[in-house]
Amino acid sequence: MYLKSIEITGFKSFAKKSDLTFASKVSSIVGPNGSGKSNIAEAFRFVLGEQSMKSMRGKKGEDMIWNGSSEMPKAGKASVKVVFDNSSRFLPLDFSEVTLERVVHRDSVNEYYINGSQVRLRDVIELLAGAHIGASGHHIISQGEADKILNASVRERKGMIEEALGLKIYQYKKIESIKKLEKTRENIGQVESLRREIAPHIRYLKKQVEKVEKAIEFKNELLGLSVEYLKREDDYIKQAHQEIVEKKTPLLGEHRQVLVSIETVKEHLKNAEHKDAKSSELISLEESIFTIRQRKDTAVRDIGRIEGEISSQMRLIKKQEELARSNEWKTVQLRAVEDLHAQVFDLIGDLEHATDQQKISSSIQTVKGLLKAFVEMHRDTVDTTLIKEAESEIQKLGDERSVLEKNIDAVSREENEARAQYEALKHSIEKEKDTNREAEKELFVLMSREQNILSDIKTYETQESRVRILEDDFKRELTELSMLLGRDVLAFGEKHFELREGREAQEERRRKIEKIKIRLEDSGGVGGGETVKEYEEALERDQFLERELTDLSSTAESLGILIGELDTKIASEFTVGVEKINRQFSEYFAMMFGGGEAKLSVIREQRAKKKSDLDDLSPTPGIGEDEEVEEGEAGIDIEVSLPRKKVKGLIMLSGGERALTSIALLFAVSQVNPPPFIILDETDAALDEANSRKYGDMIETLSKFSQLIVITHNRETMSRAGALYGVTMGQGGVSKLLTVSFEDAVAVAK
Ligand code: ATP
Repeated sequence: MYLKSIEITGFKSFAKKSDLTFASKVSSIVGPNGSGKSNIAEAFRFVLGEQSMKSMRGKKGEDMIWNGSSEMPKAGKASVKVVFDNSSRFLPLDFSEVTLERVVHRDSVNEYYINGSQVRLRDVIELLAGAHIGASGHHIISQGEADKILNASVRERKGMIEEALGLKIYQYKKIESIKKLEKTRENIGQVESLRREIAPHIRYLKKQVEKVEKAIEFKNELLGLSVEYLKREDDYIKQAHQEIVEKKTPLLGEHRQVLVSIETVKEHLKNAEHKDAKSSELISLEESIFTIRQRKDTAVRDIGRIEGEISSQMRLIKKQEELARSNEWKTVQLRAVEDLHAQVFDLIGDLEHATDQQKISSSIQTVKGLLKAFVEMHRDTVDTTLIKEAESEIQKLGDERSVLEKNIDAVSREENEARAQYEALKHSIEKEKDTNREAEKELFVLMSREQNILSDIKTYETQESRVRILEDDFKRELTELSMLLGRDVLAFGEKHFELREGREAQEERRRKIEKIKIRLEDSGGVGGGETVKEYEEALERDQFLERELTDLSSTAESLGILIGELDTKIASEFTVGVEKINRQFSEYFAMMFGGGEAKLSVIREQRAKKKSDLDDLSPTPGIGEDEEVEEGEAGIDIEVSLPRKKVKGLIMLSGGERALTSIALLFAVSQVNPPPFIILDETDAALDEANSRKYGDMIETLSKFSQLIVITHNRETMSRAGALYGVTMGQGGVSKLLTVSFEDAVAVAK
């Protein structure tokens, strides 16, 4: 027992809430015409998710709602609720009881609930498909639709059979998978086209980024070079400046000193112009020396003359003396000597004791005279006068000479003095001359030094202006580089480089910097941070799309596989199911007709193109609606051959025969894959008494597999039910439900 109860509120003629509890395997609903029995069958269709209003005898949702009467006003909504015993888990939900509810409002809005939770229609359909009880399924046979399966197209019939075989769930899955696959392919297409669209942009950005990267490379290279260049240049300029200052400053000092010295020497030389006075003094001194000299020479010459005269007088005297010396060896008489002796003796003897000085002196004079007279007396005659005159002359000359000698001494002294003066003056003049010469020399040296200093200063000034040019260049380059490279380049001062290198290395570095600057500008990628970001983002997006594509492709692949598997499963189960149905069908058919044959055969037919998703959800999609036709799947044909009749084919059967064939097929299908419950609304209407019994038998057989709810006026059918429910309708057009006895039921049926 799967079906526990149904609760109908505001649905069609059931204006008030009406409950029906199914206590038996076979329940029969009886009541007079128009009391609302079929509304109960439709309530089942409704709650199980039927979308075709037509199959519920309506045009729109509103037609399902109690429309009001003199007794009761219209209802705002209609709701039907069924309760299933799910302890067998025939519904794939982990609840032992499952409540299904559908509500429709006047604005045709539907609500679905499973166990009180609102769900989608799809959820209801999927839940029921698992138990092969689709909304308009084979298990609810509406009034007058007993031969529906015979009237259906081969494809519709196939749908019914598939649903009955419980294959719908696979088909839904398949359709869903196909939809997913289509959606996936669509997504793949979109992703591919997106990728195609962004590819040129990425290529463009990549090129730009390559440029930017190249530019960054250039920039880094430029930064390295620039920092070294600037540091070296700065050091070089500072050093050059310092060297120039160090060399120039002392030169300026020296220059000032030299100028002072030049002035001093010039002053000195100006003073030396007084030298002429000294020269004339010297000349006059020279002249006086000359005069003195002349005087001295005259005196010397006079002395020479005087000495010559003296020597001539001396020679005269000498001659006389030689004459005298020739008397030397003359012999004198003793007597004469004795006389002399006696005379001298006498004179001297007296003097022995004499004290008188005068007397002594006179005696000496006397002796001398005696001696002299003695000699003279004995000597040859010598001209003494001449001697005397000579001697006197010598005397005179001697005196003269003495005077002259004294004179010479005086003149010599005078000369010496003059000479000394002269020498002193000359020395002074000479000395002065030397000093001036030195001064002139010095002046020359100083002036040439000044020239040298000035030329050196000039050289340093030239160097200074060169350094200034370098400095200006340096400032300009620093500005340019910092504009190009940013703040980093300003940190050059913190760097240290080995200073020893030639100036040409720095020149080379500058050339390189210029080259890289040009290449950097040519690369056009300066300041491409945004481009890089954009590229990364675009690439990230492309990679994302690529991953997406991979995911989608693998999804598509697995969906393809799934669809394939579902196809196989559906096909194989369908084949097996049809075979099983055929066995039962031919059995029931033979039973109903007392022989003959009936079977289902799978054929191909033209099928309608799907128009809407609801078509897929409906087990009998799009019947009678506008359809495009395409070569489609297989369909189901029914072949019958009645016993003892040459009738073959459904078209030739009578109404009763069609009903019997339908019932046989319906029961066969239900037995092969029994649904939890079957609702039969006056399926037995066309049967005669004999067939009604057979029908009753089949119901009993079928009730072993499925719970049955039969709406009937047939006594035979009623007799097979375990529970009977009556439906009545009063003046107000409101249907009411009640449990009735068999007798009451039979009475109603009659
Ligand atoms: P029969 O034995 O002749 O087949 P039945 O018992 O099956 O009759 P139903 O066809 O279920 O009767 O009931 C039809 C009745 O329901 C009609 O009287 C109709 O007016 C009523 N009905 C249908 N729809 C509505 C509605 N929306 N509001 C009120 N009454 C409705």
